[in-house]
Amino acid sequence: MKTKHLKDWENELDICIRCSYCFEDCPIFKELGWESSSARGKILFAYGFLHGELEPSEFIAKRVFDCTLCRLCKEKCSAKVDITEIIEACRADLAKEGFVLPGHKEMLENIVATGNIFGDKEARAPVQDGETPLFIGCQYLARPNRTKGWIKLLEKMGVKPKIVEETCCGFPMKALGDREKLEKQKKDFKKKFPFKEAITLCPTCAAFLKEDYDIDAKHVINVVLEKLGGLKPKSVGKKVTYHDPCDLGRSLGVYNQPREVLSKLGVELVEMKGNRNLSNCCGGGGGMLVSDVPVSDRIADKRVKEAVDTGADLLVTACPTCEQVLSKASARMSEKGQGSIKVQEMFDLLWNAVK
Ligand code: SF4
Ligand code: SF4
Repeated sequence: MKTKHLKDWENELDICIRCSYCFEDCPIFKELGWESSSARGKILFAYGFLHGELEPSEFIAKRVFDCTLCRLCKEKCSAKVDITEIIEACRADLAKEGFVLPGHKEMLENIVATGNIFGDKEARAPVQDGETPLFIGCQYLARPNRTKGWIKLLEKMGVKPKIVEETCCGFPMKALGDREKLEKQKKDFKKKFPFKEAITLCPTCAAFLKEDYDIDAKHVINVVLEKLGGLKPKSVGKKVTYHDPCDLGRSLGVYNQPREVLSKLGVELVEMKGNRNLSNCCGGGGGMLVSDVPVSDRIADKRVKEAVDTGADLLVTACPTCEQVLSKASARMSEKGQGSIKVQEMFDLLWNAVK
């Protein structure tokens, strides 16, 4: 197999001392129990491909794509190996050999055809003139009412969002291994969104705009923290637990800001067992939501169980995907009589406090 992308990570792969610190907390390993499903297993597959000791197969490709890209393994790694970058490079080399999972293929084709992952031709950013570029992103294009709400909230705080006709940032193409489509998408994105700074509504877009486009991208929660005081928010007065989205926390290091916002809303914050850099994933990342729904669901159920165990009234998060995945998990658990908790995106709490 040709290993064009893995070659860039040869030195990083050599740093791995096979200690296995990375695998006991990996959400996929916890569900499937095979070392081949763990972070170290994926590292060994990558090493085998790179050194010509292994040929790709559907079985191995599935193991490599069984990953939420949550980055918890890197936090636990004794040598701080950039495991998710290696996994993404391995996915890229596998995809080049034709190993693309069916649900992923559809998502990638949707972006090319419509500019968003859902293939929704009607989904459009609410274009408006303003001062600060606001990137809406696929998840919020699919949630027009919520998007309008965020825009209204930003305007209430004195921000004048500038919104243009946009296209997907291309992160799913990187995550799912299609680097050729990614390069084309990046060109299109830069034409449509030629800014040096931006606010984003989705944490994943913020991380990708920062890392891959060198845009000074801020997730909206940072702006809220700066400006909220001026609106004199009412106290919400609830017991809340906060789920750290992987891309907001481990990718961007935004741990304190959402907690400070919650404190300004007068909530009692109780932490789940896994929190901040050791937060457990919701199960919705890395393409797992379409490639392995049962495993993704089981990971989400466990996260909701952690939230229920805190005794909080509400599980709040700052990512639309996490909110969707955890809400569904909570409904599932309620049906099974396993306890449930109301799940909300930070916006709902904020709007109730300032409207
Ligand atoms: S990124 Fe998350 S799911 Fe993927 S191997 Fe690492 S810990 Fe496991
Ligand atoms: S924790 Fe790091 S060094 Fe240890 S096996 Fe995992 S990737 Fe390799």
